[in-house]
Amino acid sequence: MDRNTEINTPNREVRLPDVPVLVASGNQAIWLSAEGEIETTNLREAAVRVNKMPPLVVHRLNIARRLGINPFPAFDLLELYAFIHPAETCLPTARGLAKAVGLIPSADPEEQALALFEAMNILLNNLTGLTGKKRKSAAAVAMVMGQAGWNWAPSVLSAVGLPENKTRFGGLDAWSNLQEWPDFAPESPADDIAVSEFEARARLKELLGDNAEARPQQADFSAMTSHAFVPRNQADAPNIVLAEAGTGTGKTLGYISPASIWAEKNGVAVWISTYTKNLQRQIDDELDRLYPISEEKAQKVVVRKGRENYLCLLNFEEALQGGAAQKSEQISLGLVARWVGATRDGDMVGGDFPSWLMELEGRSRITRLADRRGECIYSACSHYRKCFIEKSTRKARKADIVIANHALVMINAATRPDDPNLPKRYVFDEGHHLFDAADSAFAAHLTGQETAELRRWVAGSDTGRKNRMRGLENRLSDLIGEDEEGQEALQQAIQAARKLPSDGWMSRVREGTPNGAMEEFLVHIRGQVLARCGQPDSPYSVECPAEEFTPEIIPSAQRLDGALKALSTPLTTLAKILLKKLDEEAEELETATRHRIDAAVQGISRRNNLSIMPWRAVLKGLEDTTPEKFVDWLAIDRIGGRDLDLGYYRSYIDPTEPFAEAILKPSHGVVITSATLRDNFEDAESWQSADMRTGTHHLVLPPARVHLPSPFDFAKQTKVIVVTDVRRDHMKEVSSAYRELCLASGGGALGLFTAIWRLRAVHENIRGPLAAAGLDLYAQHQDALDTSTLVDIFREEENSVLLGTDAVRDGVDVPGRSLRLIVFDRMPWPRPDLKHKARKKAFGGSRYDDKLTRLKLKQAYGRLLRREDDFGVFILLDSMMPSRLISAFPPEVEIQRLGLKDAIALTRNFIAEKEQALNKNIIG
Ligand code: SF4
Repeated sequence: MDRNTEINTPNREVRLPDVPVLVASGNQAIWLSAEGEIETTNLREAAVRVNKMPPLVVHRLNIARRLGINPFPAFDLLELYAFIHPAETCLPTARGLAKAVGLIPSADPEEQALALFEAMNILLNNLTGLTGKKRKSAAAVAMVMGQAGWNWAPSVLSAVGLPENKTRFGGLDAWSNLQEWPDFAPESPADDIAVSEFEARARLKELLGDNAEARPQQADFSAMTSHAFVPRNQADAPNIVLAEAGTGTGKTLGYISPASIWAEKNGVAVWISTYTKNLQRQIDDELDRLYPISEEKAQKVVVRKGRENYLCLLNFEEALQGGAAQKSEQISLGLVARWVGATRDGDMVGGDFPSWLMELEGRSRITRLADRRGECIYSACSHYRKCFIEKSTRKARKADIVIANHALVMINAATRPDDPNLPKRYVFDEGHHLFDAADSAFAAHLTGQETAELRRWVAGSDTGRKNRMRGLENRLSDLIGEDEEGQEALQQAIQAARKLPSDGWMSRVREGTPNGAMEEFLVHIRGQVLARCGQPDSPYSVECPAEEFTPEIIPSAQRLDGALKALSTPLTTLAKILLKKLDEEAEELETATRHRIDAAVQGISRRNNLSIMPWRAVLKGLEDTTPEKFVDWLAIDRIGGRDLDLGYYRSYIDPTEPFAEAILKPSHGVVITSATLRDNFEDAESWQSADMRTGTHHLVLPPARVHLPSPFDFAKQTKVIVVTDVRRDHMKEVSSAYRELCLASGGGALGLFTAIWRLRAVHENIRGPLAAAGLDLYAQHQDALDTSTLVDIFREEENSVLLGTDAVRDGVDVPGRSLRLIVFDRMPWPRPDLKHKARKKAFGGSRYDDKLTRLKLKQAYGRLLRREDDFGVFILLDSMMPSRLISAFPPEVEIQRLGLKDAIALTRNFIAEKEQALNKNIIG
């Protein structure tokens, strides 16, 4: 085959890099040489070759991981794609990239290598079509990236030509072309007009279209959820609907129907909240039915996330000004500049910023461009009127539907308890996660990392990079102006914050050379944990009870309490002075300045009320017993033997209590829904677990409850097998079982694990055999790809195998043939740590363990059927499954206890039979 090294266009000759193409597939490497020759080698040989000449690849880090070597220089097509198609999605595999540029993806690795060469041609050809501003901008950015050593730059510049003028940021000042947000008059008060069942059903019908198949459960679901959209009759008693809707009910469109009518009738947004950013994206996609015209959708729907998810233009500008420490940073900034010019909303995490680009360029390098630490200076920022976060906040005020996540909703409510503009109507999808989300949101952990973060927020960076971490002085000084009391309080707060942990605190604590009261406290906490935990040298987190303290802890806690008081007092003074200014200067203050002051007061109150005050309460109460509603413990947080954090931890035993106080009670109507709200085992009391996990038992009025069974035929479409002769703690046996089962299903298999080390052991053992059988294996904690990308690849590649832990279990939505087998490594019992021990005691002893475990099994099994014609096998490699947990599965499904040999045969036969039937239907 001939590989030309030039593309001739009417105007320019595009220079192609003269390098081989490399595709790693299973345990083979395919080389397509610059002369067009194709050769197959093993991975070891490939590892030697890549160091001689940088090859053309897709995702160089993942290829390096597969070859078992350190990252190497390469022409990564993903970078070229991100430059040419910024803010567009593409799976980071050879097939994914081929598909993204319009080629037909092939399963054959040789064809994939040829396709990559073709893809490069197509991409560079795309560039030759650029004209005007677009061409100039691409040329300017490519020039800067080229000067920093980007290896695609010569080809890109040959396609677009050289830039004409030199500008201050070399064309990377992408903010200059962004639109400003428009000003609107304040919103009128919302109406409170009810939505009826009839209206909800009618809207659903409209959304589904005339030809849609009748789905009575979905219509009933929609009608029931409309009960949350009527005016409430009593303060603190919202209209709550708890709705468990089995898989396939179509609950998203079901609740969108009454929610959208409510928003239209009353001129106020309904907030739909889900657990993960991926699920936010899925709900956003479903809303295309309601708003098929994209311009209308852009006005009516907004996806909201925490501000740490969005690019801060000021941080980006400062990164450009600061001069990149490494040349490669200029390359990353160039790619970010291209994305800034194309993004829908500036969302870098789960939005249109490719997650693989974050991995390729370095996660911390990219995420520090976001407003991670709440350092925004609002209207004092030169980009304020173009700011992505401000745009999104303003859009949410005018939208009909806001798609948020549980964490954001909880933080918003907890930090602004008296804000009259907080939402009054919510839909919580994935409601079974509310307990865990509340657990994170309302905890008060007094740890090294938390206090170091507070120090940075108040006093700014220690590193001398003046602007990046601004500190309160930069953010508030001009607002306080000549007010002497204010300036003094500001300086006192900064001095007090400097006594909290600074960079390098963990090493000082480990060496016993603390600096300041908090580091000293941590030295003693660490001493107690190591003295009393079972395995001080464990590579995993260790903990001990927060009681019977060592003699040094109490006096050290008192000193720390004094240090925190010295910080809290001036912060309170500052907040008061700012509020007084808002009041006294009401007539003169510009709206933007008012917002800025308001945000500053909120930031201070949040740190004071949600961090410093609870910490001080912990420290003051050390000599007493822990208040009944909390569980306290001391811990060193470790991963793989590396200490990440340590300190004194406090959680609510029942975190749904503050959730109910902060969110449910002030609201007027709430739908809480999920496919797994109840615990089947309890029968008559089956709603108890739903109340317990959602906080509805804390309300004066009980919720309306509805259960709608799944329309799927689980008995016919699934098999559940408990394997009886594999010893769950013998990883060789567990690995053999995984290998044979994945081979029997021909891929399409999801391996779920209860611990990362177990996943790694199995991965190591099955990697070779699966590769030899032509099955691609992907794994969380192993591949250099984030979880959502791994799931996207798994969904797309029908015969691949994916291994993962909890996040994969909860986040997988894979309809169709790509998921036909789930293998769980052992019973997913809860981790027996101190927090769990306290909850177990409070919530019914071992019944609580059973309940949590059943819910996890139910959740995992529920992944198998997402569409009516889906089918699959669920296998548990743990003969110790107690029969009382069988109710995790639908009653009509028989649980078969089989030896591995029979389980493999049944898996193979069942899948073959179902596929045959499916093919017949398609052909028929
Ligand atoms: S307004 Fe705040 S978040 Fe927005 S660009 Fe400026 S500093 Fe960043």
